Amino acid sequence: MNCFYCESNEIKKFKLNENLLDASDFHEPKQELNRYSYFVESCKTCGHSAISTNNPCWLPTRKYDFITYGEPTEHYPMILLTLRSLNLNFKDVSIHTFSYKDIKLATFLSNELNISEINLNDHAGCSDDWLPLVSSEVIRRTPLAFARFLNEIDNSKKSHQLILMTRFFDHVASRDLLRQVLGLSSPNRHFVFDLNDYDQLFKLGTVEFIWNERRNLFRRSHLESIFQKNNLKHLMFEYASYEVSPTLTGIISERLPNARYPYQENLVELPASNLIDELKSLRLRWQNTLAADNKLAIIGASHKGVSLAQFILANEVQYSLHDDKQALKGKTPPIDPPLGFYTVSGFDFSEYTHIAITTTLVIAAKIITKLRASGYTGEILDFDCKRLD
Ligand SMILES: [Zn+2]
Repeated sequence: MNCFYCESNEIKKFKLNENLLDASDFHEPKQELNRYSYFVESCKTCGHSAISTNNPCWLPTRKYDFITYGEPTEHYPMILLTLRSLNLNFKDVSIHTFSYKDIKLATFLSNELNISEINLNDHAGCSDDWLPLVSSEVIRRTPLAFARFLNEIDNSKKSHQLILMTRFFDHVASRDLLRQVLGLSSPNRHFVFDLNDYDQLFKLGTVEFIWNERRNLFRRSHLESIFQKNNLKHLMFEYASYEVSPTLTGIISERLPNARYPYQENLVELPASNLIDELKSLRLRWQNTLAADNKLAIIGASHKGVSLAQFILANEVQYSLHDDKQALKGKTPPIDPPLGFYTVSGFDFSEYTHIAITTTLVIAAKIITKLRASGYTGEILDFDCKRLD
């Protein structure tokens, strides 16, 4: 595969694992499932990093609709302020959500800006909705989920459309899809998006964002350069969150009064991230931490917890997976923990030498207090094998 950003074939490739299910594939027992191989790729030409796979999905989101995640809200006031500066007649604006993750923001904006036409749909849906359709003539067609999204926007009777696309750029896996989404732009359409701040994350030396349902780890300059090439006026700002990793949020609109819009002809060249080296040393860290007879409990069966088992832990590690989410009850996890899949509450961890907590720090703090109060004396670690207390 060539670099998604610059198409160079000067790629450094590192195998993550083979025969993997989606990180959110908590299926019914005995279900037949597709498995895929995953690699991390770093481009030597432009510094872009991506997760490559033989899974052809255009937009890996989540495997089933009972899997949902919370999203942060700290950046809402900044988005509101920026949208007010567009100087629109908000009575003549319709709001469109791309994913269920946008619904909270859509409701907030409709209340604050008095926007009455609000379309709350989860077009992003599940990963399988984004498998490319192949007709009898073997022509690739737009996935139905995307066609419905385009249709909704086209059918708006309002003069302006406000389109919320949280996390689109973190998950887009097809150049066609990226081109079509950028091509939606017009002077009457205004987009809000966010994505992980990978420059910050690379600096922090963590790799907890490596999930098999993410594909392109766009850095700010790469994304800005893509917008510039497509003549899209935009504004991005970073925000800190107690809930998620460092994040960027952005607005694309012709009406942005203060948007920086420098002309840039040359390809962005950033130093390649040391992601591959970080992954290798994290594997080694876990290997050195866990002795052969140790037992590890992974608390938190979201993408992060599953990715720890899929990409980082050695095959021989004796571990179990734990989560209290009601929706996961009775399901078979996408990995096969040698010690099983259980709840957190009511479980006796006294036989375990180590516990990895892969929830948000806020939730982790509560779990740690309970574990210590119950007399647990083993080591409590995070995804990066660092002690949490
Ligand atoms: Zn590149």
